[in-house]
Amino acid sequence: MTRILAIANQKGGVAKTTTVESLGAALADLDVSVLVVDLDPQGCLTFSLGHDPDQLESSVHDVLLGDEEIADVLLDTEDKVTLLPATIDLAGAEALLLMRPGREYALKRALAEVGQDFDVIIVDCPPSLGVLTLNGLTAADEVIVPLQCETLAHRGVGQLLRTVREVQQITNPNLTMLGAVATLFDARTTHSRDVLSDVADRYELPVLNPPIPRTVRFAEASASGSSVMRGRKNKGATAYRELAENLWKYWDAGEGVRTLDF
Ligand code: ADP
Ligand code: MG
Repeated sequence: MTRILAIANQKGGVAKTTTVESLGAALADLDVSVLVVDLDPQGCLTFSLGHDPDQLESSVHDVLLGDEEIADVLLDTEDKVTLLPATIDLAGAEALLLMRPGREYALKRALAEVGQDFDVIIVDCPPSLGVLTLNGLTAADEVIVPLQCETLAHRGVGQLLRTVREVQQITNPNLTMLGAVATLFDARTTHSRDVLSDVADRYELPVLNPPIPRTVRFAEASASGSSVMRGRKNKGATAYRELAENLWKYWDAGEGVRTLDF
C-alpha cells in the first residue's frame, strides 16, 4: 500500500523542503521506493535534487491542469528518489485551478495513476494555505508539521491545524495529523525544548522522535546542490535517518510512531 505524506507549514524557512529531501533520501536508502512532489512555485526541492526549474518543459503545473500525464513528467534524481518537479508556472496554477470544480482533488487524481509504483510519496507544500496546500492535504494519508524551535514558533500553528480539520471534514476524512518534527533544534540550550513543549501542550500535538539538530551542513549542502544525506556523516543526516526508520516501522510493521516526552 502506498503511503502519501504531506509536509506542511505556511511559514517559510522551517525546513519543509529540507525535510522532504532528507527523509526521501533516507527512506530510499532503506530500499523504499519514494516519489517526492514539489508543490512550491519556487521549485527549491526541484533545484536541490539537481534539476533547474527554468530548463524544464513540463512540471506538476501541467499535471494539475490535466495537460500532461504524470508519468511523462516524472524525473530521476541522484538521491535515488523520483521527482514530480515544479516550475514558476505553478504560481499561476492557483488562479487557474480556482475556476475549476473539484480543484482540491487534482493532485490526488494524478497520484492515483502512479501510486502503485511507489511505497511512499512525500509532498513538499508551499508556504501558504492556498489551493496548492489544500491539494497536498487532500491527496495525503498523513501530515507532518515541521516546527522551527524558536520563540513564536507557535504562531500560525492554530491556523494550520484548523485547515487540517477542515480538510478532514470536507475533502479528506482519512487525513491523519502525525505530529510535528522539531527542526533547527539546539540541544545545547533548554530554549528549543521549552518552545517545543509549549507548542506540544498548547495544541496537543505529538512531536516525532528525534528532533533534527541545527547544523551548518544543511546550508553547505543547498549551496552545493547536493543532498546533506550524501555528504560526510553528520548529525543532521543521522537524525533524518532515525526519523525515516521511525516512520517506516510505523508504516511497514504497524508499530506506534515514537514521539518525544516532555
Ligand atoms: P522551507 O521549505 O520550510 O521554506 P527550507 O527547507 O528551504 O525551508 O530551509 C530553510 C533554510 O534552512 C535553508 O537554507 C536550509 O538549508 C536551512 N536548514 C534546514 N534545516 C536545517 C538544519 N537542520 N540546520 C541548519 N540549517 C537548516
Ligand atoms: Mg520549501
